[in-house]
Amino acid sequence: MPRCKATAPTTGKPCRKDALIGSELCYQHDPNTTPPKPPPKQPDFSWHEGFLTGLRKHANVRLASQSVGVGRRLVYDHREKYPDFAQAWDDAIEDGIDTLEAIAYKRAMESSDTLMIFLLKAKRYQPRVSIEHSGAIRFRREPQTLTEQNEVLREHGILGV
Ligand SMILES: [Zn+2]
Repeated sequence: MPRCKATAPTTGKPCRKDALIGSELCYQHDPNTTPPKPPPKQPDFSWHEGFLTGLRKHANVRLASQSVGVGRRLVYDHREKYPDFAQAWDDAIEDGIDTLEAIAYKRAMESSDTLMIFLLKAKRYQPRVSIEHSGAIRFRREPQTLTEQNEVLREHGILGV
């Protein structure tokens, strides 16, 4: 089999690898061949579960990312790429807020008038549903049943009693 005619630019030594059929050069030196590609990297999803657990616990993206040692950029990159992950993220945040709310209520009942007032205001003024410019109705948290959905709509005067 003929040998590659190319020489190494630094040492000037001939390459000596087997030349390709119909070529005077080996696969590394022949410009018509593309070098073998490394296999595509599989994205790492192993941190998702821990991250979601962190969100459920803290309702806070920074703390949840820190808890699994992943950067915010990667976290938001996955949120954009994987709709299922984005949905699980939103659910986890809602769970986290529910948990924090329950803790806050307990604390407010036990000791803090200021916290109690804050919580009551937040409840009163935070609508559970909104109407967008397009006319689409958006729920803060997707109601589980039609009954619940109508309840929320009635509560906010969108649906007649
Ligand atoms: Zn060569």
